[in-house]
This record gives sequence, structure tokens and C-alpha cells, in this order.
Amino acid sequence: MEYFTILIIENICASLKTMEVDLNSREIPLIVQNYINGRWVKSASGRFLDITNPATGEVISKTSLSNKDDFDKAVKAAKEAFPKWRRTPPIVRSRYFFKLRQLLEEIFEDLSRLLTIENGKTLIEARGSVRRAIENVEVACGIPTVMQGYNLEDVAPGIDCTAIRQPLGVFGCITPFNFPAMVPLWFFPTAVACGNTFVVKTSEQTPLCQARIFELLEEAGFPPGVINLVNGDAEVAKAMLEHPDIKGVSFVGSSKVAQQIYRRASENGKRVQALGGAKNFTVVMPDAMMDKTVSVLIDSAFGNAGERCLATAIVLTVGSAYDMIRDALVDTAKKMKIGNGLDDSVTLGPVISAAHRERVIGYINKGIQEGAKILLDGRKAVVPEYPNGYYVGPTVFDDVTANMTIAKEEIFGPVLGIMRVNDLDEALSIIHNCQYGNTCSIFTQSGPAARKFRYEAGISMLGINIGVAAPMAFFTFGGAKNSFYGDLKAYGRDGVEFYTDKRIVIERWF
Ligand code: NAD
Repeated sequence: MEYFTILIIENICASLKTMEVDLNSREIPLIVQNYINGRWVKSASGRFLDITNPATGEVISKTSLSNKDDFDKAVKAAKEAFPKWRRTPPIVRSRYFFKLRQLLEEIFEDLSRLLTIENGKTLIEARGSVRRAIENVEVACGIPTVMQGYNLEDVAPGIDCTAIRQPLGVFGCITPFNFPAMVPLWFFPTAVACGNTFVVKTSEQTPLCQARIFELLEEAGFPPGVINLVNGDAEVAKAMLEHPDIKGVSFVGSSKVAQQIYRRASENGKRVQALGGAKNFTVVMPDAMMDKTVSVLIDSAFGNAGERCLATAIVLTVGSAYDMIRDALVDTAKKMKIGNGLDDSVTLGPVISAAHRERVIGYINKGIQEGAKILLDGRKAVVPEYPNGYYVGPTVFDDVTANMTIAKEEIFGPVLGIMRVNDLDEALSIIHNCQYGNTCSIFTQSGPAARKFRYEAGISMLGINIGVAAPMAFFTFGGAKNSFYGDLKAYGRDGVEFYTDKRIVIERWF
């Protein structure tokens, strides 16, 4: 076992029962374990992955890389827990979520800090995503109302018809590194409140927040087996797709993997919703309120270090909007403070890993090679206090054209491109030709332009004078084209539909 000095997270780790913590030592060995059938258990695999703080480059923990046997145990526990949990009245099930909500509020600040430490985003961004996570729990609290069916008397003389929503069994989710506290909560609160049982496989790069949240699930008193956590990589995900007792899979990650998940889960007869990657465009019309537009755009492009599936990647400036916005975008981006997100004055944290930084820099190099003009170059960003952190500075390209790699592929880093177009129709045709369709936005004061945009964009999450059009927990989240595979999207009403089957009862009494 290896030992690491991690003074910065000592307080947080001291409360992590999931990990082996030697409180007498400043050198703290940490292993993130699995939570199966109401107990913290070691993986049988003997494989581990180092967890690194992206801001410092220090190894802060290790996670178990579980195997199929671990996963099978979790599904067995979930399957056994299902009949009793299903019979638990929805109002009683919802009370566990009221308790979870209260516990999440109590550790709100600690959890946000842990999120910054494992993911790199700034503390303000971390707080925002923890808030969004809690909102999903709040929706689950309302399940006695939300999962109600519908009925109609006299569908024929003396015959009544009722639609009842019933849970199906064991569901699972596979989630990405960029929102490790929030994304699993897009899924399991709704699924479990509806009466299903669940297995979470979170990203192996960022498992700490879910481990902490699972401690709260334990404290909230959820019955053993109802919600389980199996840490690991693609091996666990693949076990989920093959397991005969998994009724459905919720996936969030890159499009390449989303496609594989969708195909394999469907072949195996499972319900599946697979949310993929993105390349998002924002249209700026000449009549937009430019000062407000610039600050919103900067947050959209560079917030969360660009590691957001709703980040603006390309600004499409219509006509004279280009002259009004170009310099302001660069000047505002230049003022961002790069550093460790735990420092309140920092506005741009690191990207997730050294490998990902290289990937982002590779895209910047490609943009230059293909003829885009670099206005602000973040490749050589350094933070003197943290020479081993994974920093990329804000990068702005001008003269981007639709055929360039940086206009077509997801970079997932703090890189913004500017493309000039003549009118809204040209902007829409660029949006239509992109393989992705997660979100897009327009900035304008014109109602007709906004309506045309909403009507014709063909994209699922739309912003009108909004930079990050992230639907709240009581709406529904998911994209179009290669950004989404499936039909029912994440959470909200779609979540309830995804995790339940409608049983139609036609009734006559002689
Ligand atoms: P990723 O696709 O590499 O990994 C996502 C999950 O899939 C992880 O849990 C990982 O262990 C697992 N996985 C990886 N390879 C697998 C394989 N071959 N088979 C089965 N499972 C596999 O994604 P990431 O790098 O963690 O996250 C970034 C991506 O997620 C970006 O593309 C981003 O746009 C996307 N994302 C999308 C949304 C959305 O709502 N559409 C939200 C957040 C992130």
C-alpha cells in the first residue's frame, strides 16, 4: 500500500469512512471502496488507480478498479432488495430523500471543496453543481405526486381505464469525470424514488464525491441493497451492459462510448439513455447587448475549464457583431485568473489530467496548422505555486472556418473559436451541419430572430440570451444527433418515464 501526504484534504478525508484513514499519521493512505448491500467492501480485483488533484498534480487517493464479480454482487443485492423496496409506499420512499437532502445541505461546503480537489473546477463552479445535484434529490422527494398515472372513466359504457407507473427492477448508471457530484444524481434519486434499485458506476478519475455521498445514503438509512456503488473503469461498465438482471442503463460520457453503450445495451434488451459529447455554437446578432453577451460567453466557454458539455465552443458573429465583440472577448478572457480552484480569486482551474492537457494542446496546435488565427494562446500557462498542475490558459481563435478540426471536434478545454457569418440563415446552416446537437444559444434583442432560431436550430437545449442552457432538475436534459442516443432523456418527466413502465388496466364490474 502506498502512502501520500495530503494535508490540504485532511479534514475532508478524516470524515471519509469509505477510505482507510490513519488519523495518527499525516501520511494518509486512502482507498475508495465499493458500497454493496449496505456495507463498504473491498474489490476482489486487486486493481487500483491513483486519483490526482489536477490543480497540484499530487496523488491524493486510490480507487478500486472493480471487476465483474464485484458488479455481480452489487446486482444480486439490488435484485434481492427490489421486491420489498417496490412495496414500500412512495411517500415512505420519498422520506429517505428528504433525509438525504438535509444531509447534503449539512456537508454542502465540504462536498464542494472535495469536488474542486478531485476535479479542478473552481469552488464557485463546484458549489453550483452541488446545488444542481441537490435539486435532483428535491425532485425525488416529490415522487408521490410526480409518478402518478392517469385514468379515464367510461372508455366504453361501464368500462374504466387506468394507467399505473410501476418500477422495473435494477437500473445502473455510468458517468463522466466532469460533474462527479451531480451527474449520478441525475439518475439514481428518480430511479430509486420510483421503486427501483440501483448500481452506480462513477468515473474512475473522480470517485471521491460519490463515495462521500454514499456515506450520506448510509446515514439516511436506505435499506441494504437499494443503492450500490461499484467503482471501476470500462470493465464494470461492460459488466453492466451484459448483466441479465440490469433492466436499464443511464450513460453520460463521450459520444464514441455513448454509441457503444447504446448499441450493446439495446442488443441485450435493456432500456438505455446515452448522453454523449458536444460541439456547441452561440450566435451573436448585431443587436445583442454586447457587454452582457461578452461576460456570459466567457463564462460559457471557459467555465469549468471548458470541460462542460454545454460550453460554447464557437461564437458565430453575424455581420457587424464581429467588430463589436472580438476584442472584448479577448480582453475579458485575458483577465481570467488561472490557478487552484480552492483559491476564491481564481476564475479558471486546471483540466482533469496531464493526458487531457496534451489532448487540448494538440487541438490548439491543429487549429494553428489549419490556418486559424490565434488571438490568445493558453498553451504555455503556468501557475508558479503549482508547477505540476494541469493548466491550460484561455485560448481564443479567430478566422475559424467550418471545415477546420477545431470547428468540428469536441476539444473539452478552454478554447473558443470565432467564425464570421453574414446572417442568421448561414449560422443555422453551420449548426445543422455539425455532427453534435447538445445545445446552442443566440444573443439578440429581436423576438423574430430568437423565434426563428428556436424553431429551426434542431438542437435540444436552447439558450436565448443564456450562455449555458442547462435545464433544471424538474425539466429534462439531453441533446440531439450524436450528442444523444435514445429517446427518453435524463431526469424530470422523462426520468420518471424511463425508470417506470406504464401498466394499463381496463376494468369492468358485472
Ligand atoms: P468517457 O466516455 O471517457 O467516460 C465516461 C464513462 O464511461 C466513465 O465512467 C468511463 O469509465 C466509462 N467508459 C469509458 N470507456 C468505456 C468503454 N469503452 N465502455 C464502457 N464504458 C466506458 O467520458 P469522460 O472523459 O469521463 O467525460 C467527458 C465526456 O462526457 C465529454 O465528451 C462530454 O461532452 C461528455 N459529457 C456529456 C454530457 C451530456 O449531458 N451530454 C454531460 C457531461 C459530460
